[in-house]
Amino acid sequence: MTIRKVILREINLPLQSPFVTSHGTITHRRSLIIELMDGDGYTGWGECSALEQPGYLPETLDTSLSALQNWLIPALLKHDFFHPNEIQPYFDKSIRGWNFAKATLEMAVWDLFARQKEIALAQILGGVQQKVAAGIVLGIEDDLHRLIEKAQEAVTKGYKRLKIKIAPGNDYAALQALRRKLGVNFDIAADANSAYTRADLEHLLRFDDLQLSMMEQPFGWDDHFDHAELQKMLQTPICLDESILSFADCQTMHAMQSGRIVNLKPGRVGGLTTSLKIHEFCLKRNIPLWCGGMLESGIGRAFNIALASLPGFTLPGDLSPSARYFERDIVLPEWQMDAQGFVAVPFDRPGIGIEVDRDYLTFVTVGEWQFQ
Ligand SMILES: [Mg+2]
Repeated sequence: MTIRKVILREINLPLQSPFVTSHGTITHRRSLIIELMDGDGYTGWGECSALEQPGYLPETLDTSLSALQNWLIPALLKHDFFHPNEIQPYFDKSIRGWNFAKATLEMAVWDLFARQKEIALAQILGGVQQKVAAGIVLGIEDDLHRLIEKAQEAVTKGYKRLKIKIAPGNDYAALQALRRKLGVNFDIAADANSAYTRADLEHLLRFDDLQLSMMEQPFGWDDHFDHAELQKMLQTPICLDESILSFADCQTMHAMQSGRIVNLKPGRVGGLTTSLKIHEFCLKRNIPLWCGGMLESGIGRAFNIALASLPGFTLPGDLSPSARYFERDIVLPEWQMDAQGFVAVPFDRPGIGIEVDRDYLTFVTVGEWQFQ
């Protein structure tokens, strides 16, 4: 495979409603979109899922942009390769870190490869599930009535799991109210995005009363030790998100028992090649996996849906339809969820299974750079 031309775009996509986490509030999703062209008229798309602020991980959208422009795109254009699984090791050899930026290109190469072969990406990756269960994430809500209203609305729409963002002072009571409202059997999870410390250990142990399906990333983004200490005492499974940036981190989690569930986001681990390795590792050891979201547009979402069709993804993913987050998505068709809470995997369409709405893409583009 040879890449002839790369177009890097920065977009600013209006959200349906503001999204609040322990790191702040956003009203637009700034994102980077990659378009790769080979010499035969095929195009591959990718999206950088890094966030604007360094509150999730150190890499941000602007640092990804710099890594793409200065190191990664020039390196990709210089290199010929046979298979997309060569890209990640090639980048990793000389460039450390910058997982989100690397994944943007790596995943676009996978899309290009699948489109050249005229096969669905999900099929190339080994996907088997024709549809994937969707969970919804609700941001931190100060008004408990409003939170319950939103939760009930989500259940009515068919969502299989409800995950709420939590932070000290806005956690146990909200989850307890949801548990009472939705009953003992509904899948409720909590995501702390590293908002707690060891000092909160006693408080977090109370959460076992709530029968949550998981407690996601209560402690530091670079921590395994404290998570392992908590997991020894906590019955609720801990799910790691921010702490798993590589295959090695996944092995560490398993060896230290710092978590029992993995939230796998392909952007966070540098792309699909490492995602496939983590999937295989977890599948062999019965470690449940699910695919998390980063408020991606329909392009990034398409990769998550293809990945979530693999057999190890046994828990609902953060795979909401386009309309949940955006006034209008940049893909055609937009992603839909059925009344039972499933998103169909487009096995009948090549690559990631969507076309890009070029008119709207141009409309939301705020910067463009070309490389050849
Ligand atoms: Mg998370």
